Formats: sequence, structure tokens, C-alpha cells
Amino acid sequence: MAINSNVLYIVIPCYNEEAVVSETIKRLKSLVVEWINHDLISKGSKLLFVNDGSSDNTWGIIEKTHEEDPFIGGVKLACNVGHQNALIAGLSIAVKLADIIVTIDADLQDDPTIIKEMIMNYKNGFDIVYGVRKERKSDTLFKRSTALLFYKLMKFLGVKSVYNHADFRLMSQRAVKQLLHYRERNLYLRGIVPLIGYKTSIVYYNRAKRFAGESKYPLAKMFNFAVDGITSFSTKPVRMVFMIGVAFVLISFSILLYVLYSLLITKNNVAGWASLILSIWFIGGILLIGIGIIGEYIGKIYIEVKNRPRFNIEKVI
Ligand code: UDP
Ligand code: MG
Repeated sequence: MAINSNVLYIVIPCYNEEAVVSETIKRLKSLVVEWINHDLISKGSKLLFVNDGSSDNTWGIIEKTHEEDPFIGGVKLACNVGHQNALIAGLSIAVKLADIIVTIDADLQDDPTIIKEMIMNYKNGFDIVYGVRKERKSDTLFKRSTALLFYKLMKFLGVKSVYNHADFRLMSQRAVKQLLHYRERNLYLRGIVPLIGYKTSIVYYNRAKRFAGESKYPLAKMFNFAVDGITSFSTKPVRMVFMIGVAFVLISFSILLYVLYSLLITKNNVAGWASLILSIWFIGGILLIGIGIIGEYIGKIYIEVKNRPRFNIEKVI
């Protein structure tokens, strides 16, 4: 790569996308060609399709197009590994060949024309540019409200993430290099990218409907994704167990006061009730506190095991 080269790779994960992939190739290619002609990006820029173990003809189309047009690159994964892993696979190859890497879904829901604006931001010194949806009219009310709820929950649990941003983003080569140092198995890219720490900016767009085909994120997968997102970044739920334990013990103390009151003052107590109810709340509370303490240690082990990079150097002078 020459100095000041701006080779762009667009990484596109595809899982059973035969209905859209030809159109995606056509649209993205015409944009990239236009940008090359306008000197926005360098020659050698490419589309890189990652076939995530599709069982349909997606790979056939990619391969055939590649034969006619080397401008289209492809990576074929041996089996389906999921959107996030497919993205990492594509990024790990693109990072060796490109200066600028954009990831976008195959279904044309995200407006590819704004990649131009992303590239301008990159040229102005931003290493990470997030594509963010202006509105989500094209999504169902259910998907919109669950997404908002999830975002609020993540924020409450202390996970940095960008609201209404999916995996449509531009990253500089050095940002992707740093991203690849996060070697964890439970991948939630939207949570990891903000940890990289380079200068970031946002470009807004309107999200369209799927061009064709069906969503590959049915409810169950979405739920798993959300659980992954939370448990990969936060050990706060463990602390909540501890706090509930403390609350139970406090409740048992107030029950103790009530028991003493009815025993000594009103004298209308049922035999056995006091000791029973007190033991239930007190022992319950102590057990929860114990689980919380053990959880704290497991949380620490969890963080160690992830072996995340401790820092990312931007510049040394
Ligand atoms: N995808 C993938 N592997 C999977 C599931 C999905 O590579 O196991 C790709 C899919 O082809 C698409 C992107 O991930 O390019 C996002 O999927 P989809 O559009 O179905 O999700 P939605 O937009 O409905 O959230
Ligand atoms: Mg989609």
C-alpha cells in the first residue's frame, strides 16, 4: 500500500441471501466505481462477500460474479457461524489489504450511498464512523420497542453502545487491527467497537425495508443476541443478586421487630410462626449474599479469561 492510499473494502456477510445478492453486487459496485472515478478512494477497492455457510445458491452467485469480475471478492466459511463471526472473518482478511473497511448487511436495508459521507469523515481523521438510523419506520413496532428496551437495559448495566446503530460502520485499518485483539468467543461487536477508543463520528440514514428475502434474525436468535450482549459486557447482574440478599436480611430484621412487638406487647402470636418466618427470610438473604460474593469472583475470572487488550496506543511522540 502506497502512502496516502485509500483502498476501500466493503465486507458483506451473507446467509442464504440468493434473493438479494445479485442486486447488492450491482448497487455497491456502481457506487464504488463512481467513488474510484472521483478519486475519493483508490483503485484496488473491492467488495468482499462472506458466505456464512448458506444452504442456497448464494456462494454460486458470488463465485460466478467473481470469475467475470475480479472486483468482487468472496470468502466461503465452511459452515454457518453467525453474523458476528462472519463479520470478524471478513474483517480479518480485509485488514491485510485495505486502508478503509466498511461493513454492511447484504439486504440493502442500510443506505449504501452514505458510505461516501463515512469516507469523508475518515479523511477528516475519524477512525470509526457509525451508521445510525434516523428512524425505524420500516421495522415493526415490536422490533422497535424491544430494541429500545434492550438499549436502555444495556445503558443501565453500564455497557457503552450507540443507539440505533447496527453493524453498518466504517473502520480504519488500525481500528480493525485493534478490534481483532479482542479475542473473545461471545462476540458482540456493537459493544466492543466503542471500547477501541479512537475518534468516532456518526452518519445518519433512513433504514429501508429488506430488498428481498427474509430476516435471518428470528425472535429466538434476537433474544440470544441480546443475552450475549449483556453477559459479555456486564457483571452487574451478579451484584444485583448480592443487593437482593442484603435486602432480604434487612427485611428479616424488620420482621424480627414485628415479632418482638406481637410477642411482648400485643401478645397474640401463633406458636412457631415467628421462628419459621424469620428463618426463611434470614437464611434466604444470607444464601443470596453468599451467591453474590461467589459471583463477584466468578465475574473477575470471567474478565480475566476474556484477555481483552488493556490499552490502545494512538500515538507516541
Ligand atoms: N447473516 C449472516 N449469518 C447469519 C445470519 C445473518 O451472515 O447466521 C447476515 C445476513 O445475510 C445479513 C446480515 O447478517 O446480511 C443481517 O441479517 P438480517 O438482515 O437478516 O437481520 P435484520 O436486518 O433482520 O436484523
Ligand atoms: Mg436486515
